[in-house]
Amino acid sequence: MSRPVQYNNTVKFAGIPEGYMGDGFMATNFEKVVGLARKNSIWPLPFATSCCGIEFMATAASHYDIARFGSERMSFSPRQCDLLMVMGTISKKMGPILKQVYLQMAEPRWVIAVGACASSGGIFDTYSVMQGIDQVIPVDVYVPGCPPRPEAILDGFMKIQELVHNESLRRRQSDHYKELLNSYGIQ
Ligand code: SF4
Repeated sequence: MSRPVQYNNTVKFAGIPEGYMGDGFMATNFEKVVGLARKNSIWPLPFATSCCGIEFMATAASHYDIARFGSERMSFSPRQCDLLMVMGTISKKMGPILKQVYLQMAEPRWVIAVGACASSGGIFDTYSVMQGIDQVIPVDVYVPGCPPRPEAILDGFMKIQELVHNESLRRRQSDHYKELLNSYGIQ
């Protein structure tokens, strides 16, 4: 006997940006449309070096399903991604490599430090471990935990979505942003 068909009635569609609507037309702000599109199609670059990377694998798998956010397309080419997700212990020797990957990403780009190690060195307060990736690249969101559960990674991801959605198109040309990059020696 065939099983009864079940419909998922809880699917939510992306909200329509604020604007003016009438019969057959809608007018809104260009930034809002771009923000909406970017927010729902973030392509992550998983830079995973240790245990936190395993939690990310669970986040990408069917149960937690990062594809719900339009982000199932992992990119291992920095030129084709928007979000650098750093997961795991980063040694000082790896710092320049991480920075190079960041530099190869096109603007606009965002960064999440996933877990205690990427955020602050974690339990490894040793001569060889970098005490947080923000020593070499700017970070937008920090996810605490050792390791953070997939729910926490998704929460951090949704914080990034908020940033992406609300970011001004002019931010990357602003003096403030240039100063931030200059402080990391990036022109
Ligand atoms: S934060 Fe904990 S779980 Fe994550 S990489 Fe470091 S030691 Fe591993």
